[in-house]
Amino acid sequence: MRSIEKVITILSQESHTTMLGRIGGKWDPFKVLISTILSARAKDEVTEGVARELLKKFPDYTSLANANPFVVKKIIHRIGFFNAKTKNVIAAAKMIRDEFEGKVPEDRELLMQIPGVGRKVANCVLVYSFGQDAIPVDIHVHRISNRLGWVKTTTPEKTEQALLTIVPQQHWQMLNDTFVHHGKTICLPLSPKCSSCPVYKYCMRRDVMKSR
Ligand code: SF4
Repeated sequence: MRSIEKVITILSQESHTTMLGRIGGKWDPFKVLISTILSARAKDEVTEGVARELLKKFPDYTSLANANPFVVKKIIHRIGFFNAKTKNVIAAAKMIRDEFEGKVPEDRELLMQIPGVGRKVANCVLVYSFGQDAIPVDIHVHRISNRLGWVKTTTPEKTEQALLTIVPQQHWQMLNDTFVHHGKTICLPLSPKCSSCPVYKYCMRRDVMKSR
């Protein structure tokens, strides 16, 4: 437990701002929701520009619910699964308008009723918009948690369940932001920079050689 806290403390001290922090209405639930729906299986660098452009044209649920799908598709066509995401973001806006009285719900189960919203997206909204204790597990959090030896899991869902039992609750909210930055700069998917990693001595480097 102590080494887990040590790793989080060291990595969280590094200067960073994730994609969600750069969208431009950092804690706005609608913007976080739409941005994270768009981010599935897409690079943050691309998603960021696309989300910014979409939310500039459709800044709230009313305008997006009434959006022409062809216009939305034209804006987001640079990211993967843009056809499905076009349907999902418009449907999400309509659901917020028609079923949630214009408010993004602060409840995971309700959030997961929205098209395009799985556990990761729901947890992102809870953490980044409402300051609730949750751990959004994306590919970076999943990969790094396994490499460090904290968990031995095959899916992000299993990783989340395992992390919830071993990471002290006061660190849950910062874990995603911290590991996303570390995963993009040092603990890269294919060639992690272990020799310059600030948490080298705490890491089991599980499966690192296999991924090279
Ligand atoms: S030592 Fe290597 S595998 Fe472990 S966290 Fe650092 S970069 Fe990742």
